[in-house]
Amino acid sequence: MMLSNIIANEPINPAQLRQAAQIILALQEELKTRIVKGSGPFLAAIYDEKGNLIAKAANSVVHENCSHCHAEMNAIRLAEEKLHTYDLAPHRLALYVTTEPCLMCLGGIMWSGIRQIYYGVPSKRVEEITGFDEGFKPNWQDEFKKRGITVYGNIEPQVGEEVLAAYVAKGHKIYRPSR
Ligand SMILES: [Zn+2]
Repeated sequence: MMLSNIIANEPINPAQLRQAAQIILALQEELKTRIVKGSGPFLAAIYDEKGNLIAKAANSVVHENCSHCHAEMNAIRLAEEKLHTYDLAPHRLALYVTTEPCLMCLGGIMWSGIRQIYYGVPSKRVEEITGFDEGFKPNWQDEFKKRGITVYGNIEPQVGEEVLAAYVAKGHKIYRPSR
């Protein structure tokens, strides 16, 4: 993995990055299976500091007829239900997601108390490959840093791009509001 390609809002901790890459690669691998079954193409997981999986979810916009059922939002909701709280901050949790969070999910993450975000494919590439609209997000990494939220991104992006391309190639839905 090329450290220089990583997008981060603080100095990179190599051990933390290695662990994040392992988790994101595993999520991408799981997505390949999910896409074959018509799910995806996004997957998010929340872990505690000891490496325990707290919640994992894919996007479910189409299946649930719910425009905010993105993978990150679904995973956060599951984590909060499981831990019986609207404030995840005391639990010191990290969110791992196969692509950069969209405009809505950044808000959801910010208000959840998640401490760290690790993502795979940057939004620009997601939009180029799939046609999904990821929203406008000026300086979001800096804004997150101000709020004490660590961000590392562009983690193993090639693998993630292949997964997205497979979703498109299968002719799965690129859902969006009609304009
Ligand atoms: Zn989203």
